[in-house]
Amino acid sequence: MVDILFLGTGGGRFNLVKQLRGTGGFMLLGRTLTLHVDPGPGALLRLLDAGQDPTKTDALIVTHMHVDHVSDAGVLAEAMSGFTFTRRGLLVAAQSVLEGDRHGDRTVSRYHQGLLGECAAFGPNDSRQFEIKKEKSPSSSTARAPAGPSTPASSFHLRGVPVKHDDKAGFGFVLEMDGVKIGYTSDTEYLPGIHDRAYAGLDVLIANNLKSAADGIPDHLHSGDLIKLLKSAKPKLCILSHMGLGLIQSGPEAEAARIESASGVPTIAGKDGYYYCTDRCGWFDAAKEKKKASEEKGRAREGQKKLE
Ligand SMILES: [Zn+2]
Repeated sequence: MVDILFLGTGGGRFNLVKQLRGTGGFMLLGRTLTLHVDPGPGALLRLLDAGQDPTKTDALIVTHMHVDHVSDAGVLAEAMSGFTFTRRGLLVAAQSVLEGDRHGDRTVSRYHQGLLGECAAFGPNDSRQFEIKKEKSPSSSTARAPAGPSTPASSFHLRGVPVKHDDKAGFGFVLEMDGVKIGYTSDTEYLPGIHDRAYAGLDVLIANNLKSAADGIPDHLHSGDLIKLLKSAKPKLCILSHMGLGLIQSGPEAEAARIESASGVPTIAGKDGYYYCTDRCGWFDAAKEKKKASEEKGRAREGQKKLE
């Protein structure tokens, strides 16, 4: 089971500044691992609003160096490293993010990289199993499963996928964790053939679908091309994210329904502050679920006290 928590389903330069929809990326909440993908502006605040603890994030994945995908990575590195006191946490990022682009701009500082346990440069042709060393105490993680021999390994597999985007070092990916295969296009134009093959056989494809139609501006996915990709790759589910201002204003749910009927692939629009549970196949309000869980815990504690 993996819960996909959206901290921002907005994309494009207009929404970035206006923040009609958030730009904090998304989190993958597995049985033993918590990953955060593309933490753009507002990621930390959205994460706190959703009832998550940023010090419990195990890994950040940053697919390219653009500000709407990386701006909060530094502050999240401070959280992951226990307020900078422990070298902990993994950052998997494009070379441009870690080492700089052709102009020498790097978007996660050396200081913040140095706070983490590991920084791994990753690209579109890479494929790697990442092992995360967890602390022994189960309370030190967001783990839902009890510690012990039956606890699943704290690892995930990442396979890079090529993109056609302004940051040439950027990558999309297919990530496998807890038996769930999740694809993420990141920002890209559709690459026929390459994307059809790379995203085949997924449980969920998260598509950064900026627009409902092509408008001559390159480097991004629009619904027409996404329909072609879905018809060919046939994931079990597609979730729209990174939607531009026009798409947000015209109605993401209606656009998802249109894509679903044209492609034959179940398609839904991502929702800020909600997580999609791959087991229960539905949306849950992250903050409400967190509150409910802590109230249940409190009641159980009270019950235990009465018994003692
Ligand atoms: Zn971009």
